[in-house]
Amino acid sequence: MAINKENYNRINGELGACNVALVAVSKTKPVDEIRELYDLGHRDFGENYVQEMAEKAEKLPKDIHWHFIGHLQTNKVKFIIPFVQLIQGVDSLKLLKEINKQADKAGRVVECLLQMHIAQEETKFGLDNNELKEVLGSLDELKSVKVVGLMGMASFTEDMDKVRKEFCRLKTIFDEVKQSHPDFHMLSMGMSSDYKIAIEEGSNMVRIGSLLFGERSIKK
Ligand SMILES: *Cc1c(COP(=O)(O)O)cnc(C)c1O
Repeated sequence: MAINKENYNRINGELGACNVALVAVSKTKPVDEIRELYDLGHRDFGENYVQEMAEKAEKLPKDIHWHFIGHLQTNKVKFIIPFVQLIQGVDSLKLLKEINKQADKAGRVVECLLQMHIAQEETKFGLDNNELKEVLGSLDELKSVKVVGLMGMASFTEDMDKVRKEFCRLKTIFDEVKQSHPDFHMLSMGMSSDYKIAIEEGSNMVRIGSLLFGERSIKK
């Protein structure tokens, strides 16, 4: 298998024109395919399993920006702290505190996004509005994390109106939080199937896997 260069160049062009960052989601894909994109100049890659990301980071060039985009268990935080660029799925205060603790130990400040629960599905992780308030209220004490924005995943549905509404809601929350949190500047929303809608609704970072690497055989 090889990466889809045509899609990469096309998407890169589209995103460049509107200043949206591209995280290439390489979960389940081998390191040679990551390297193919790397050789085209790409540096931002997303993974959602700790061990898989750590193994790949070990084998690949050190100037790659690794984004952790999955559900992160507190007991695994320490394994990614030395090299992670952005932890996108912070979905509890407990997790953020653990990231802060491990980052402090490592002498780093680690950038994070708070994951909001915007889909109607019960299965998706994320904060609700009350939990968001609680986390925002604790940020001053957490000196070794820097929360720079929000992340969200829309419902898994063909109903694009619904998807659009969910993204729109996340953008509204983002704009509101930004007023009182000057560090907030990243809104990560949009995947292969819905990134265009996400950008129309105000996303400035999309996470795209299958359009670049092909469909995954393992559903993760
Ligand atoms: C897998 C995944 C993506 C990418 O999905 P595609 O549909 O392959 O683009 C984006 N975000 C998260 C959180 C993911 O787990």
